[in-house]
Amino acid sequence: MAAAVVAALRGPGLKGVPILRALLQGASPRVRLQHSRSPLQTKHEPGPWPPGLEYIPKKKAKNPMKAVGLAWYNLYARTWLGYLLYKKQLQRARHRFPDGHSAVQPRVFNGVKVLPIPVLLDNYSYLIIDTQSKLAVAVDPSDPRAVQAAIEKEGVTLVAILCTHKHWDHSGGNRELRRHHRGCRVYGNPQDGIAHLTHPLCHQDMVSVGRLQFQALATPGHTRGHMVYVLDGEPYKGPSCLFSGDLLFLSGCTMLNSLDLIMGLGDDTLLWPGHEYSEENLSFAGLVEPENMAREKKMQWVQQQRLQYRSTCPSTLGEEKTYNPFLRTHCLALQEALGPLPGAGGDAGPSRARILEELRRRKDQHKGK
Ligand SMILES: [Zn+2]
Repeated sequence: MAAAVVAALRGPGLKGVPILRALLQGASPRVRLQHSRSPLQTKHEPGPWPPGLEYIPKKKAKNPMKAVGLAWYNLYARTWLGYLLYKKQLQRARHRFPDGHSAVQPRVFNGVKVLPIPVLLDNYSYLIIDTQSKLAVAVDPSDPRAVQAAIEKEGVTLVAILCTHKHWDHSGGNRELRRHHRGCRVYGNPQDGIAHLTHPLCHQDMVSVGRLQFQALATPGHTRGHMVYVLDGEPYKGPSCLFSGDLLFLSGCTMLNSLDLIMGLGDDTLLWPGHEYSEENLSFAGLVEPENMAREKKMQWVQQQRLQYRSTCPSTLGEEKTYNPFLRTHCLALQEALGPLPGAGGDAGPSRARILEELRRRKDQHKGK
């Protein structure tokens, strides 16, 4: 279920109403039932509820700003007001960073080029080129002008756009690029309501452009229809590449499955994220696992890079597994560093879902400081 929906259900606007969450299939996840308590039921035992529904008691002293934040998010993600705001952000970012927020280094393999394009304040779009046919694919082209400049500089033809999710800072350039490049296809998950989508994808669908073969993987969490794209390294005898969008900025119960899906890819897979967040992420990792030497070493390198506004992408999945706490929920070292978790119970220790929830909570706190 989308985290935003859970947040809405738990929000202060529903004062005093016990909340029911639909589990898996069965009832719609958006279902909210008004309970009618029998005289025998105590305040803490609200059932019985229809099968498939879980009772989530309302927590005390919830942040009243959450409802405001949620309303704002809905405006941004679902209305044209959000689009106007994105346009404003675009203008400001172009003014502040006329050459992009970071210096990037393209990677060239046998006939395949991956070119990161720094856009907005900290986003990355990508242009992936089959150098033989001169055909190109863009991932998350949020600033159409920057992406178009890269297309012209490389002298390639844009034939497809792969969108990880609907947010404007990932999809805002679809319209203008489609106008420039007639016949350019826009791929993504139809569940996400991506602007100007022309080719809806399902989990594990393939997209082929020349020698480039991408597989779309559904990774719900950040948004309901979030997808990542894996460029298969086999046809060009190089490392596979994962374009992960906002995969790691997730919350909610769907996150674990999405992360496990990614963990199954090879350790040498290059990770190309949607934002330049390495420094922030590693600083958080240091709070939860301060003794982790791999993190320490990576942080030193990242800080050197950022001093000179250099991009820190890509890392590899193998590397990320050594320091990224969200990919380490199975590691004893991380579990020990977190200490005992309230409500975890049992000799088997906390479940990975419980660890993930705790990481998310601490990350939110960290951000709020
Ligand atoms: Zn997003």
